[in-house]
Amino acid sequence: MDASEYRRRGKEMVDYVADYLEGIEGRPVYPNVEPGYLRPLIPTEAPQEPEAFEDVINDLEKIIMPGVTHWHSPYFFAYFPTASSYPSLIADMLCGAIGCIGFSWAASPACTELETVMMDWLGKMLQLPEEFLAGTAGEGGGVIQGSASEATLVALLAARTKVTRRLQAASPELTQAAIMEKLVAYFSDQVVATLGTTSCCSFDNLLEVGPICKKEDMWLHIDSAYAGSAFICPEFRHLLNGVEFADSFNFNPHKWLLVNFDCSAMWVKKRTDLTGAFKLDPVYLKHSHQDSGLITDYRHWQIPLGRRFRSLKLWFVFRMLGVKGLQAHIRKHVQLAHMFESLVRQDSRFEICAEVTMGLVCFRLKGSNQLNEALLQRINNARKIHLVPCHLRDKFVLRFAICSRMVESAHVQFAWEHIRELGEDVLRAEKE
Ligand SMILES: *Cc1c(COP(=O)(O)O)cnc(C)c1O
Repeated sequence: MDASEYRRRGKEMVDYVADYLEGIEGRPVYPNVEPGYLRPLIPTEAPQEPEAFEDVINDLEKIIMPGVTHWHSPYFFAYFPTASSYPSLIADMLCGAIGCIGFSWAASPACTELETVMMDWLGKMLQLPEEFLAGTAGEGGGVIQGSASEATLVALLAARTKVTRRLQAASPELTQAAIMEKLVAYFSDQVVATLGTTSCCSFDNLLEVGPICKKEDMWLHIDSAYAGSAFICPEFRHLLNGVEFADSFNFNPHKWLLVNFDCSAMWVKKRTDLTGAFKLDPVYLKHSHQDSGLITDYRHWQIPLGRRFRSLKLWFVFRMLGVKGLQAHIRKHVQLAHMFESLVRQDSRFEICAEVTMGLVCFRLKGSNQLNEALLQRINNARKIHLVPCHLRDKFVLRFAICSRMVESAHVQFAWEHIRELGEDVLRAEKE
């Protein structure tokens, strides 16, 4: 494929993507395939000779799409949202085109510098304490990780290094191994300190947890993978109070802030806590500016060496939607969740199982777990909408998460009518 064919085919693909997203409502949200469906549909080996673009594209609808779960369908209410917007898709094309590997400032200065500034913009949108911002002379700063899980691991490793060095400085006779085997990490049954847990979107009280960590000189990492995006709205910001006690904080713009996967935003108060844990300087990665104190080499802030130019997605999305556009997106989802909540509350056969704060509603039929498992099975077998369950204490609960950028009240209304009908079926089947 040369540049002129790329121009043509690229534009065709843009049309395909726009058609796909515009027409996604018409596709069944959940695929009707069995494990292993794909292998018999394609050759057992890669072609020796090049094939035509048309042949690849024709196979998309035949082979790939039948096995796709359409996460951006307005009938997708499972897990949590995964963000998608046109500005972000466009930025991702550019990211692929530049295709740099921004492990150090010198490896592509704009890749590093835009990330630092975008993380400051985002930190200010959340009203994070000044200490988390890089500014021009700050000790803190932000970094884009691939996932919240990665951010948690990075925080854990940084905390381990920090405490090990502190104890070794105080008692030089202690070996690293002797210290490490005594280290303890505290967490609840919902993981680290969390704002917006995955199962039911509950919130830890940072104003209780924070002072204890401070008093005991313990690293406090806060995971707000899903709910963090909502803190750009002043009415939700109070849930982040206490973040000033944290050493590190993380949330996923790729969940709820219209930035396509992957983009997990992590801030630390002291960048040296991260670089202290991850710094390695082989000679082929050294460059003349690195010890100036003026620049960031992000390879010291993360586990991998390589990294993509992901901040382009933030830049395009922030500029083309504005904070107001992003706030409107969050508010619409929260409002739709409350709409679903009130529909559930109007039917006395159902119950709401956790406070609805963001875009997630946990609900169930009053009755046994078995009854609710049967209901979920009917819902997902019907394939009109898609939900996943969770356990709250010993109860089997259905999670209704507002996910799609395109979801409207009519879809939520439809989903509820559908759930209610299937609920009647399982109640009837139970009596028989
Ligand atoms: C989604 C979620 C995660 C996992 O996020 P990844 O980026 O996929 O690792 C972690 N914690 C919470 C609270 C989440 O909601």
